[in-house]
Parts: sequence; C-alpha cells; structure tokens
Amino acid sequence: MPELPEVAAIADYVDGRAAGLPIRRVDVASLSVLKTADPPYSALHERIVESVGRVGKYLVIRTIPGSAATAPEPLLQLVIHLSRAGWVRWSEELSPRPLRPGGKSPIALRVHCGLPGEGFDVTEAGTQKRLAVWLVRELTDIERVAGLGPDALELTLEQFAAVLAGTTGRIKNVLTDQRVIAGIGNAYSDEILHTARMSPFASSKTLKPDQVATLYDAMREVLTDATDRLEGQTVARLKSEKRTGLRVHARTGLPCPVCGDIVREVSFADRSFQYCATCQTGGKVLADRRMSRLLK
Ligand SMILES: [Zn+2]
Repeated sequence: MPELPEVAAIADYVDGRAAGLPIRRVDVASLSVLKTADPPYSALHERIVESVGRVGKYLVIRTIPGSAATAPEPLLQLVIHLSRAGWVRWSEELSPRPLRPGGKSPIALRVHCGLPGEGFDVTEAGTQKRLAVWLVRELTDIERVAGLGPDALELTLEQFAAVLAGTTGRIKNVLTDQRVIAGIGNAYSDEILHTARMSPFASSKTLKPDQVATLYDAMREVLTDATDRLEGQTVARLKSEKRTGLRVHARTGLPCPVCGDIVREVSFADRSFQYCATCQTGGKVLADRRMSRLLK
C-alpha cells in the first residue's frame, strides 16, 4: 500500500512529466472508483495540469482552465486514493481507443495529457476494489480529506505530543489512523516503532515525554529517509526500492538487521504486522496463533 513516501514520489514523478500539459481526455473503465459526479469528469478535458502533489496518502492533481475554455472553473482537483493495491503508470504509448468499462484490466482510469499516446493510468490489482477518485473544487469537499489529521512530516514535537495525548489505544493503531496523523500506514508504522524500539501494543496515552520524543524522531527519520531514497525513482522502481529499505515490515522469519533475532508477526483476518521482540518488547512475544504454529 502506498504511504506518504511513495505517494510523494509518485506525485513528484507525475508532476515532472504532466505539469503544464493539457488534458486531452479522461477515460474511466471502472465506474465504481468515481466518488463524485459534479463537476463531471469531462470537465477536465482541455484543462491544464498545474501541478501534482499530495495531501496525506492522497494524490492531488490540480488543473486550471485551458485557453479555449468558455466557462472556466478556476481550479478543479482530481484526487486519487490508491488504497491497498492502487498504482500509477506513466506511458508514452497509450492506446487512443477508449477503455472498455467493466473489463478484466487493472486500469481504472486513464488520463491522456500532452502529446498523443502520453499520459498515465491509475491501476488497481486484485479483486478487492478500494481505489477512490474524486473531482472537486476544494479538497475540503472530500469528507475523508477534510477529516485528515496533521501531516506526519509537518508536525513539530510539541504538536505530536499534543496529538498523542488526545488519543487512546495501541500506538500501532494510533499512528496509522489518518484522522490523527496523515500519511503513515502499516509498513512505515512497523518501521517507525522498530526504530523507536517500542512495542506496537504500547498505550499511546501513557507514553512518557522521552518516549514521545524518541517516537517523534523515529517517525521523522523513517519517513524522511524513505522519501529521500524514493525521490527521483521512476514509478516502476518504487515498490522494489521501498522493500529494500524495510527492516521489519513484511520480513517475518528473517533476522532483525539490528539484533539478529527473528522478525515476528501478529496477524489478523485481513492484515498483519511485524516487529522484533528483542528490540521492541523486551523479548516478550505478542500473541499470534499463526506465528506460534509457524515456529513449532
Ligand atoms: Zn531486533
């Protein structure tokens, strides 16, 4: 699942190619991804991509009127939440044929911009369809975006401490709650907690000031390192680059690069997370049925 560093890198990559280009056409293959109907998607035709950026884990494509516009909307923003299995693919060889709605292709949305053949596809792998796309005038028109917490990379330590003080629950869940802090998902929260040597099950409300400071530094370090490493990579290389930077996430059974203990897992019905018991829980193994079977 793309998180802050990947979405930042995708935004940077698409911005470098699409900014300044006219949108010639938007094809929608999967109507279920569209979350808004007014303004219609056809309103994007002949508009200019002003910039591509992100807010939290959302990709934001800002568009301004082209010269031929008759009733110009000053700003229309195409907002994309890639969710678990969404991705963006830039191409210079897009077929001019319209997409076939309801087909088996992973392409949900295609934006033709610039020269014929140029543009990008928004894809979603797998059978669970969670990708979401909005076309809005203001970002606050999207309830989920309006409800986002402060961006993980824009918080000061004092703000971070204040945000945590207002939460209850396990720190793993608090870090990944977009309404509390925007940008962090399952992978980077595993990495942040490992760097901070903190149990995923620690209670967010009862952290001591030095633990909050350690966690804050770990959050900045992990996200900044990943963002720096991914910046300038082509979108095709982002996933493998992300994987090579991970120390515990998705590394169940492999040695912890810090202490050599094996990386353990806690799994739920539809997701799992990883941690190192030696580094993070004082050697205590967190309950997980699947993991204990694996180790027998
Ligand atoms: Zn370790």
